[in-house]
Amino acid sequence: QSLFAAVEMAPRDPILGLNEQFNADPNPAKVNLGVGVYYDENGKLPLLKCVATAEKQLVEAAKPRGYLPIDGIAVYDKAVQGLVFGAAHEAVTSGRIATVQGLGGTGGLKIGADFLKRLNPAAKVLISDPSWENHRALFTNAGFAVEAYPYYDAAARGIDFVAMLAALQAAPAGTIVVLHACCHNPTGYDLSPVQWLQVIEVLKSRQLVPFLDMAYQGFGQGIAEDGAVIERFLEAGIDFFVSTSFSKSFSLYGERVGALSVVCESKDEAARVLSQLKIVIRTNYSNPPTFGAQVVATVLTTPALRALWEEELAGMRVRIKAMRELLVTKLKAAGVKEDLSFITRQQGMFSYSGLNAAQMQRLRGEFGIYGVDSGRICVAALNEHNIGAVAKAMAAVV
Ligand code: PLP
Repeated sequence: QSLFAAVEMAPRDPILGLNEQFNADPNPAKVNLGVGVYYDENGKLPLLKCVATAEKQLVEAAKPRGYLPIDGIAVYDKAVQGLVFGAAHEAVTSGRIATVQGLGGTGGLKIGADFLKRLNPAAKVLISDPSWENHRALFTNAGFAVEAYPYYDAAARGIDFVAMLAALQAAPAGTIVVLHACCHNPTGYDLSPVQWLQVIEVLKSRQLVPFLDMAYQGFGQGIAEDGAVIERFLEAGIDFFVSTSFSKSFSLYGERVGALSVVCESKDEAARVLSQLKIVIRTNYSNPPTFGAQVVATVLTTPALRALWEEELAGMRVRIKAMRELLVTKLKAAGVKEDLSFITRQQGMFSYSGLNAAQMQRLRGEFGIYGVDSGRICVAALNEHNIGAVAKAMAAVV
């Protein structure tokens, strides 16, 4: 009897499964809108110029590859703090934020989850309904009971804010609340500034633990505008977690560059929290890799490269917005009568199109247009060449 005889086949990742199906489809007009990746106007994954320049500099000044500190490159961690919290903010200058380099945003979430499990093993985790599919799996794997708070309101084409707030109000103290800082994945619907203030008030008064997932800073309204929500949390004077991902904003998916920041009450507290985060990291993968974080640190700390990055990120943001508008125009032109302005109210890479599973399956089967059965499409994968066919196919199935 083999050791592995009883091992069951795990279910396939639904999105990766969709990719496999897409790759196997012989239809020459096929379009992949299932991915969570930004493609440029030619349907290609971009290599940002700021990244290419920083890489070249790093290669030219090639250094031996020793181990990094457990919490990563110090200059990188500092640059992350500056970007997320503002370099001059009291929380940063006083040293009361513990920041560690992580393996992408996922790594930041997992370090935070493992630390929280040790801190408060009985706590529950609340994620939005729906959420990025890995949120539930990641916090479940870290040992938490995961439940959802209401978020998407299909009928209203927006957020069921009343129900969301009520669910938070009813949560026991210590509950960990995972929030998308901007560009909600999968729906594209974000809270308004006023709604954020109301959420923060409930989080504070109910003594809940906010965990902000920031995977798309700069894809909503702008780097500073999207970051404003973090400032509201700082102003509220509560302890909170922020995971950062540079996968999308630097188009550095495979380098696994991210971070976790924990905002504490004092420098002393942050030092103790940092020491615990380091234990989590040490016992998982010892210390992080060098290259991607060096690239990001170089870009963020070199004024000319930073300006170039901001320009390139703005270019991605503006192109996505243009695709949202063009999609609405083309759907109308293809005869869709329904008010589709909600597509332009959504932010970030995704749109909850409002299509149901049967319609999404028809899009795949009859037209080779691949989106998720939930109706989620990646607007960042649309371009001038494929958008006409996508709009026609969508119009045909609604
Ligand atoms: N959080 C959200 C909401 C995401 O959409 C993603 C990526 O799709 C991540 C985290 C993970 O980012 P990373 O690839 O940097 O781990």
